[in-house]
Amino acid sequence: MIRCTTFAGRKVAIFGLARSGIATGAALAAGGAEVACWDDGEAGRAAAYKAGLPVVDLAEADWAQFAALVLAPGVPLTHPEPHWTVRKAQAAGIEIIGDVELFFRERAKMAPDSPVVVITGTNGKSTTTALIAHILRAAGRDVQMGGNIGTAILLLEPPARERFHVIEMSSFQIDLTPSLAPTAGVMLNISPDHLDRHGTLEHYAAIKERLVMAADVSFVGIDDDMARAMEGRRLDTGRPHFPVSQGALERGFYADGTDIYVRHLWEGVAERVADLSGIATLRGRHNAQNAAAAVGVASWFRVPTDVIAGALKTFPGLPHRLEEVGRIGRVLFINDSKATNADSTEKALASFPRDIFWIAGGLPKEGGIAPLASYFPRVARAYLIGQAADQFAETLKGKIAFERSGTLETAVEQAARDAAQSAGAEPVVLLSPACASYDQFKSFEHRGDRFRELARALVAHGARA
Ligand code: ADP
Repeated sequence: MIRCTTFAGRKVAIFGLARSGIATGAALAAGGAEVACWDDGEAGRAAAYKAGLPVVDLAEADWAQFAALVLAPGVPLTHPEPHWTVRKAQAAGIEIIGDVELFFRERAKMAPDSPVVVITGTNGKSTTTALIAHILRAAGRDVQMGGNIGTAILLLEPPARERFHVIEMSSFQIDLTPSLAPTAGVMLNISPDHLDRHGTLEHYAAIKERLVMAADVSFVGIDDDMARAMEGRRLDTGRPHFPVSQGALERGFYADGTDIYVRHLWEGVAERVADLSGIATLRGRHNAQNAAAAVGVASWFRVPTDVIAGALKTFPGLPHRLEEVGRIGRVLFINDSKATNADSTEKALASFPRDIFWIAGGLPKEGGIAPLASYFPRVARAYLIGQAADQFAETLKGKIAFERSGTLETAVEQAARDAAQSAGAEPVVLLSPACASYDQFKSFEHRGDRFRELARALVAHGARA
């Protein structure tokens, strides 16, 4: 755990007592602050009691006593409207910050030169964060990974000169981190997301741009207009920066098919750093963008090219994102349960050229799967589950064959049977629902875990038969 000493002897209000809130309370208390923790939900307050943290009803508290409010990133700061604690803090004139801010203040005090890599973007944050950590570890570096992925940042080991912190940050977290100052900043892409919480796309993008501007060296994906404009403004600062792309660049880190290249202006010729072909955990053009960014960061920290290329091959990948969970003969089973909207499912359908036995459905999002029409020719048959089944059937009618499977269990059984009978070289049973999971499951993880279980049972059965 990181002891946060920058509020020693002062009182701090903490609101939002999930994973990171409890860690924040413990880290501040260990550093000598007096904390007052609160959450609207009983479960959060119970967790604080259990952790031995003072639980104080902040609605009744005198806010003049607090030096700061530490807010959990899930709590609205600006949109749709500021949370009541935000209004109280504003009225009292105290700062409103997040746990990553506490990390950066502590680092400034203890180890200002320690290497910190921060990753953001609308999509691909977790994959890129995990990949960067994996490559640095393969190079023998001391690596701590966390933030929006896995471990809350204040539960990691403290910053130290030779220790890398590889931190995933959402825009909510960046919004609460005025002292953000990483060594390297990665901004992958911008597309409309969480606009309910950010008001406009411009506001959302402006928050992400803060990372681009705050980093000593930046790696910005330039495959969408807003991100490309950010890269232009970073260029104007004259500070180190590398564009990243899914297509050839005059300078920067980019993918050409499954090859990852670096090109420096002064050298002219591009150097091939790595080859992603055959790496099951990095399928698809979107992962080529993630890999190009990770290769860029690793190169900046002088990881040798052969070590980078080797590490890419051993990347274990993340569960629920194009995760290969089994194979029966020629038939591949892929768990892409994290794909809760059409945009994400598009990445999955784009990653397999043909013979896709596609399991989709759940709680539909606006627009459904109509935007995926150009990929329908790749789909051999669709298996519809959950509440979206009728709506998706309407979209697919006359375009591709489908079953109304209803449940995931039935869908997997039907898809596996049909895929086994397919003449294709590598038929794929793909769970990529383009829907939220809550109509039939607790979470997308729960849905993906169940799919993995069903696929593995079929594999085991196949082995016995
Ligand atoms: P995040 O942490 O930003 O949600 P993940 O790495 O967990 O990102 O990937 C989530 C989903 O986003 C993936 O399943 C894939 O569909 C899509 N995705 C991943 N990387 C990219 C990318 N670079 N560009 C666009 N979409 C991506």
